[in-house]
Amino acid sequence: MPFFTGISAFFGPPVFLPAWASLLLAESRGICRLKPESVFSAGAALVCGGSAWLAVRGLRAKTLELRQELHEFRDSPQSPASGLPDASAGELAGALRFIKAALGADALTLFLAKGDGLAVRGSTASGTGLRPGGLIWLCYQKGQSIIGELKGQEAGYDLGPGQVSLIAVPVMEDRVVLGALAANSARPGAFGDGELETLEEASGFLSAMLKAERIQTEKNRRLSGFESLKEESSRLLNLLDPDMVAKEAINGILKIAPVKAAFFIKGRDGYRPSGLYGLQKPEEKFFPTLKGTLLENAIRNREHLYLSDLSSYRIPPLPFAAGRPRAALMAPLIYEDETLGALALLSEEKDPLTAYQVELVKLLSDQLSLALSRALLHERVKLLATTDGLTGLFNHRHFQERLSGEFRRIARYPRPLSLLIIDIDFFKKVNDNYGHPAGDAVLKGVADAIRKALRETDIPARYGGEEFAAVLVNTDTGGAVNLAERLRNTISGCAFQADGKNMRVTVSIGVASCPVHAQTREELVKLADTALYRAKNGGRNRVEVAG
Ligand code: GH3
Ligand code: MG
Ligand code: MG
Repeated sequence: MPFFTGISAFFGPPVFLPAWASLLLAESRGICRLKPESVFSAGAALVCGGSAWLAVRGLRAKTLELRQELHEFRDSPQSPASGLPDASAGELAGALRFIKAALGADALTLFLAKGDGLAVRGSTASGTGLRPGGLIWLCYQKGQSIIGELKGQEAGYDLGPGQVSLIAVPVMEDRVVLGALAANSARPGAFGDGELETLEEASGFLSAMLKAERIQTEKNRRLSGFESLKEESSRLLNLLDPDMVAKEAINGILKIAPVKAAFFIKGRDGYRPSGLYGLQKPEEKFFPTLKGTLLENAIRNREHLYLSDLSSYRIPPLPFAAGRPRAALMAPLIYEDETLGALALLSEEKDPLTAYQVELVKLLSDQLSLALSRALLHERVKLLATTDGLTGLFNHRHFQERLSGEFRRIARYPRPLSLLIIDIDFFKKVNDNYGHPAGDAVLKGVADAIRKALRETDIPARYGGEEFAAVLVNTDTGGAVNLAERLRNTISGCAFQADGKNMRVTVSIGVASCPVHAQTREELVKLADTALYRAKNGGRNRVEVAG
C-alpha cells in the first residue's frame, strides 16, 4: 500500500486510476480472484494515493505561484534592480523573505565580500554568525553552487538547531564573485535542482539590486560633490584673507573625501602650512624649501599628482612628519603661471579616491588658486597702504594710527610706553659719496637692524626720509635706553654693502616715555624729537632721553 500511495502521489490519477480500473475489470472477467481484504486494501490505497497527490499538487502550485511572483517582482518598475532608490535594508530584507518562501527554506542569508573575507549583508534569520571555513566559503571562493545534505560538514555560519539541508550559490557581477546566497532547512533533501534554479535566478536578481544600490550611492555622492563645490566657489571668492581660504579649502576637501589635508601658502620666506586637518602641526612656521618631498614634485611639474599606493615610494609626501600615509594627492595652486601655494591630501588607505573624486579635487583646487590669488592680492594692497615700500617698516600714517591705538589701550590698562626717534647721522654724505641707490641700501640695512632689535609687539616705522621711529610697548625709560644703546652700537658696527662698497653710518636717538615724560601722543612725539635734536647737537652717534 505505501508503494501504491507513493506511485499515486507522484504520477497522479492518469496512472493510478487505469491501474485500479484494470484490476477490477480482471476480477469481474474472472481472470483473477481478489480476496475481499485485497479489495479493501486497494480501495484504501486509492483514497490515500488521491489525497497525497492532491497535497503535493497544492504545494507545487504554491511554489510555482511564488516563483512567478518573484519573476514579476524582478521585472516590475518597482524592482530596485530597475534603478530605483537604493536597495535599503528594508527592500533587501523583503527580497530575502520572498526568495526564502519560494524555496520553502527555513532561512536565507546573503553574504558579501568584505575586506579579505565575507560579511553577512542580510538574513531572514537572526544572529547568523560567520565562522571561518565551511561550505559557504567554498561557494564564495570557488564560485560554485553547493547543494545537498550537510552530513556533519561545516556550513561556515550558524544555521540554528536541527538544520540538515543546505543550498548555496555564488552572487556574481559579470565574472566577479560578490558573495554567496545560502538557504538552509531542517527537512532532509529539502533542496533539489528546481530550488537550485530558483536560487541562481534569485542570486542574479540580488546582484542587480546591489549594483543599482551602488550606482545610486555613487550618483548621490557625485551630486553632493558638485553641490559642495558650487557652494565652496562662491564662498571662496568672497574671502580676502589667505588663511581663511586655507580653512575653507579644508572644509571643501572634507566634503569630497574623508582624508587628511594640508594647505600651504607661498610667501617671501617659503611655504607656510596654514590649514591642517588630521595632521600634527609642525614646529616650523614655514619651509624655505620643499626639496625631497612629493609635494615639491607636483609643484615642480605644475601638475596634480595622485599616488594611490605609496608603498613603493621612499620620498616623504610633506616637509614634516605626516604619519604613514598609503596614498597622496598633491595639488599645486597656480594662478597665471605663478605658484601661490599647494594642497596636499593624505590617506592611510590605499587607493582612497575614485577618478571622480580626484576630478572634483582638481576642480576645487582651480577655484582655490583663484581665491588665493585674490586674497594674496588684497593682502599685498593692504600691506602697501600700511608699509613703506623701501624698508618694509610701517609708514608714517600707519605709525600714527598704531601709536593712537596704544594710547587708547594704556588709558584702559595703564602700562609704560616708550618712543625712540632714530635719525641717521650725515646721511646726505652717503648719498653724495656713493649715490642715491647706495643710500637706499643703507636705509634698508638700518631698517633691518631696527626690526631685529625689537620685539614682535613693538611698532617699528619709517618716520620719513632717513628718520625712523619705534614704539616700545610695556617698556619704561630704562628699558628703552638700553635698547636704544644696543641699537646704536649695532648700527655703528655694521658695514652696509652696495656695489661692492662698504658703508658705515651712525645714528642719533631721542627717547621719551609715557607716563614719566609725556601724557599724550603729541607730547611724546615732541619730547622724543627734542631729545633727538639734543643728541645731534651733542655730537651725534648718541642716545638722549627727554626730560
Ligand atoms: P644729520 O646728521 O643732521 O641728520 O645730517 P643728514 O645729512 O642726515 O640730514 P639732512 O636732513 O641734511 O639730509 C637727509 C638726507 O636724506 C637728504 C635726503 O636726500 C636723504 N634722503 C631722504 N630720503 C631718502 C631716500 O629715500 N633715499 C635716499 N637715498 N636718500 C634719502
Ligand atoms: Mg640725518
Ligand atoms: Mg633727518
